Amino acid sequence: MSPIVKRIHSDQELPAKADVVVIGGGIIGATAAFFLAERGLSVALVEKGHVGGEQSSRNWGWCRRQNRDARELPLSGIALQAWDEFAAKIGEDVGFRRCGLLYATDNPQQLAEWEAWRELARPFDVNTKMLSAKEAAAAIPAKGRQWLGGVHSIDDGKGEPAIAAPTIANGARKFGATIHQECAARGLELVNGAVAGVITEKGLIRTQAVLCAGGAWTSMFCRQYGVLFPQASVRQTALRTRPTANLGEAIYTPECALTRRLDGSYTLAISGRAMLDITPQGIRYARWFMPMFLMRLKAVQIGIGGSFFHGPEAFARWNSDTTSPFERMRVLDPAPSRRTMAAILKGVTKQFPALKGIEIADSWGAYVDCTPDAVPVISPADVKGLYIAAGGSGHGFGLGPGIGRLAADLVANDTPCVDPSPFRLSRFVDGSKVKVGGI
Ligand SMILES: Cc1cc2nc3c(=O)[nH]c(=O)nc-3n(C[C@H](O)[C@H](O)[C@H](O)COP(=O)(O)OP(=O)(O)OC[C@H]3O[C@@H](n4cnc5c(N)ncnc54)[C@H](O)[C@@H]3O)c2cc1C
Repeated sequence: MSPIVKRIHSDQELPAKADVVVIGGGIIGATAAFFLAERGLSVALVEKGHVGGEQSSRNWGWCRRQNRDARELPLSGIALQAWDEFAAKIGEDVGFRRCGLLYATDNPQQLAEWEAWRELARPFDVNTKMLSAKEAAAAIPAKGRQWLGGVHSIDDGKGEPAIAAPTIANGARKFGATIHQECAARGLELVNGAVAGVITEKGLIRTQAVLCAGGAWTSMFCRQYGVLFPQASVRQTALRTRPTANLGEAIYTPECALTRRLDGSYTLAISGRAMLDITPQGIRYARWFMPMFLMRLKAVQIGIGGSFFHGPEAFARWNSDTTSPFERMRVLDPAPSRRTMAAILKGVTKQFPALKGIEIADSWGAYVDCTPDAVPVISPADVKGLYIAAGGSGHGFGLGPGIGRLAADLVANDTPCVDPSPFRLSRFVDGSKVKVGGI
């Protein structure tokens, strides 16, 4: 079942032309549309379902620099600053709060990894503090646990997935962007190998610049034009409680993660626990994902199901005159795993007795789109005028405004806000070693 997400209206008329067409109304597409429109370009955002309907409303909302790969640290600073500024620029709360994030563990190896990460992050001016066993116990008083230590990432925060992408897309509209929902992009019109338009189910928009920010569907869309984007999705599960006792804003323990929402409810989940469905796309890109798969073997369950035949990783053929796979599945809404739900509730109620008997308002599944190195792709593709911004790899919500900002810089041919080379698509084919990033 889909989680609650704010609904925004669509613009009636599809524009005949635009400086830029953004495909996909998740956090990346919405923020890219915002930054492009803010600098005076005409922008049309097309979304096959409703804005924020897929990953961007299904996540925990953690917006962090903590535990990020060094390649992402400069961009994560840009992202947090953008989160800070949206409310004033848009005139509406997007739900972001700099509440700090708390982590505790009794696993010595995990604690050592957090400690080592601080060294890596030192040149990037990240405000984070290691917690002693006593400090961790005071910060996260979990029943029956003796923490070895923890981390307080002081300047990090959390956003509100139920409202962020729709509110930011509406903000883009204030700068002149148009928003078109239930309007799938079926393909591109190419002239002499360069983008000349986007063919949507509602008609053609002429443009010379397209940003594909289609989340889990990006690889399938781009493959039509011979663009190879190794992408794989894993299925995760989360729950939402009804408003309840306040245990803290954002808490990580090895058995559960709790994130308090603005209405006093909690999003509950387990970090890293995922299902990997075998799919035609998964088989196609298996060799790129082998290093990550081997690293995360213990946390991943393998399965086979409907996603082999339907959805972003299925085998599909279509042409621009007929219904595309994007229209056949307006919202990617996999079932939550009952086993994971039970494990989450067990972990939460055992450690936090105040939540015993907690009422669950909602539960959902979601596909997390990943790249082989867990670093997003923000890059031109090998088709003139086509750009890609996708592959959030389970941490693209917090980084989303940074990804959107860098994508806008590249599309508009402005000076990039950070060095874009770590995010180039060609790293997967130019002989570079795949180094799986982050913790
Ligand atoms: C359970 C869970 C917990 C997570 N926790 C966190 C967290 O705490 N912090 C964090 O930073 N990240 C987290 N993430 C990851 C984060 O949610 C994603 O990385 C991020 O939301 C990806 O945003 P996106 O815009 O790329 O994709 P999406 O939000 O999936 O948006 C893509 C959009 O493109 C549309 N689309 C696709 N193809 C087409 C087409 N052809 N035409 C028109 N529209 C199209 C889709 O309908 C969709 O709405 C979590 C994810 C999950 C599932």
